[in-house]
Amino acid sequence: MKVFKFGGASVKDAAGVRNLAEIVRSQGQNAVIVVSAMGKTTNALESIVRAYADRNTDSVHRQIESLKAYHYTIMSELTGDFSAVDQTFAHLETYVEQPVGGLYDEVYDQIVSLGELLSTQIIAAYVKQTGLSAQWLDARQLIRTDTTFREGRVNWEVTNRRIKEAVGKNRIHITQGFIGQTDDNRTTTLGREGSDYTAAIFAYCLQAESVTIWKDVPGVLNADPKWFDETVLLEKLTYQDAIELAYYGATVIHPKTIKPLQNKGIPLYVKSFLKPGAPGTVIGNYERHLTIPSFIFKVNQVLISLHPNDFSFIAEDNLSRIFGRFAQAGVKINLMQNTAISFSVVVDNNPDRVPALLDLLKQDFRVSYNDGLELITIRYYDQGTIERVLPNKKLLLEQKSRYTVQLVVKDVG
Ligand code: ASP
Ligand code: MG
Repeated sequence: MKVFKFGGASVKDAAGVRNLAEIVRSQGQNAVIVVSAMGKTTNALESIVRAYADRNTDSVHRQIESLKAYHYTIMSELTGDFSAVDQTFAHLETYVEQPVGGLYDEVYDQIVSLGELLSTQIIAAYVKQTGLSAQWLDARQLIRTDTTFREGRVNWEVTNRRIKEAVGKNRIHITQGFIGQTDDNRTTTLGREGSDYTAAIFAYCLQAESVTIWKDVPGVLNADPKWFDETVLLEKLTYQDAIELAYYGATVIHPKTIKPLQNKGIPLYVKSFLKPGAPGTVIGNYERHLTIPSFIFKVNQVLISLHPNDFSFIAEDNLSRIFGRFAQAGVKINLMQNTAISFSVVVDNNPDRVPALLDLLKQDFRVSYNDGLELITIRYYDQGTIERVLPNKKLLLEQKSRYTVQLVVKDVG
């Protein structure tokens, strides 16, 4: 049994769906195919959630129409029985007619999860029509989580049992990445870009022989080609290096993905869906760690600095209060640094979370912040690599450890 994961970019149009079917036909006859929402659908659904929560009915309707047009155009270029898609859109339209029920994050999951349902409904219908025997699986019935909406934590025991029961040998299963369900049947999501994690969950439960993530890049590169002209393909990576790169924000793999695979020694391939025959990257148990430097850029960062209102120092009692606030607001810390009288933290500028966090922090601290920043991480750095990324940047903060340097910069170029 193999597990394949296709991200949004790989299925952004009809040609992508045909290409997926071709790859599955040639190498995935006994496989679970985990698919993300098509193209930028998740972002579009997030925007619908915001408009719905703001009770901006016109905007909700306009955005649903454009999402429909996008999906129906793709279907018009393919053949298959797409009636399930009509039902999913009908469900969305009925849902947004109702008054907003529940907290924002819960409502978010009920709406945003539909992107993966739509994509897999289209893909399963098309793949079947090409003559492959494929079964559509509802991941919500299989992946059991707690009620942490937007970041569901997996109940491995239930999930393991259900996946083993649902997945048979020698056939193709098509299922959604990113989504799960609570004990009382409310849909959850696993965090943005969480489809890789879903693939790892299936692989873990099924003792898969491998996982392949099909991407629009040739494999794991030492930098994102969006930012760097000269990139190097990393042919082999240890699980440890892959975890570190993902943790620091290399978007090529979701950080939670590696651990379950490492625990069972399941190799993870990252390959190009444009060149399925090329070797790509394989992540596994290797002796040697990386030798060439890797560069990870995170944009849209905010640097928040906290100063105690009273004359206290930044010591244990303050720190535990600060971390409590971050946890309460659901904001992850990308980097932190403290001096005797101030504490600085860099986080993603998430408009749904950061303003509430700042309000919480202001209860106890004088807060200053600086947005529009970039966080650059270099693994296996030297002075030359640092100098390479600094032209046209103002350096606000720097942190070095043995293998890693992190630079918080403002673009001034
Ligand atoms: N569609 C979800 C997202 O864009 C999950 C994923 O693509 O992995 O965040
Ligand atoms: Mg996606």
